Parts: sequence; structure tokens; C-alpha cells
Amino acid sequence: MNLESLYQEIILDHYKHPRGQGLLDSPLGSAHHVNPTCGDELTVQVGVGSAGGLVVGYEGQGCSISQASASVMSELVSGHSVQDAETFRLAFIEMMHAKGTGEPDEEVLGDAVAFAGVAKFPARIKCALLGWMALQDAEIQSGLLTNQSEEHSP
Ligand code: ZN
Repeated sequence: MNLESLYQEIILDHYKHPRGQGLLDSPLGSAHHVNPTCGDELTVQVGVGSAGGLVVGYEGQGCSISQASASVMSELVSGHSVQDAETFRLAFIEMMHAKGTGEPDEEVLGDAVAFAGVAKFPARIKCALLGWMALQDAEIQSGLLTNQSEEHSP
């Protein structure tokens, strides 16, 4: 199995078996994002768990890329600090803007490296970024993330 089909397998697996899907009972922040060019919709909610790490909930509909990316995002950031989540988010955005060149850091990104191939298709980049953009907005709304100097859209 080559890398490309392995990546497709990972994306398909997250699409068919989304991790951490569902909304939170008492979210601190919530954001609803749509990607009209593809018809993707996603609501992402954040809270803080008893151990102090992020709790992420999400619900949405749309293409396999957008939904699988939300699943990977939730799996990656759940239980981590907001600072760590920012590290993951920025690494993911950087990978999507690398247009398939460069080496994504699997140590940081885990299953999210599977979206490296998507970066070659400009029309799908927004699908892959949707969950991460909604995460940022939910974090800002919750007051967990105060640094708003970061560019909001790619
Ligand atoms: Zn899409």
C-alpha cells in the first residue's frame, strides 16, 4: 500500500467512524462554520475537562474530507492545553498551505498528516480546514484563546 492510499484509508476511517462526535452538555464556546463551495457544515464546541484539558464536541454534515478532518481534530486536541491545540492547529494550516510539498510532522499531527495529499487540491483545502477554523472561533468565544492576532482565514 503506498502512502497516498494509506492516507485515503485514514480519512475514510475517520469519516465512517468519527471520533468524539456529538455536542457538549455545557460548552464554554461554540462556533458554526459553513463551507458554501462544498456544502459542508460544522458546529464545534469547546469546554475544559476535570483534568484541565480541552474537551471538544462537534456535529456536522458534508463531504468526507470536512467530516473526517473534524474527527481527527477532535481526537488530536482533546485533553490537551489550548496552547498545545494551537500548535496542532498552526501545524495543520501550514501543512495545508504547503500544497503537498514539504514534510508534515507526524509526531505533532498524528492522523492529520493524512490530509497532506488534500493540500494539492485547492478546492478541498477549505473542507479540511473547516473544523480547525471553527475550533479557533469556539476557543475565542469561550475566552480560552485570547490571541486574536492570528489570521482568521487562510
Ligand atoms: Zn467539503
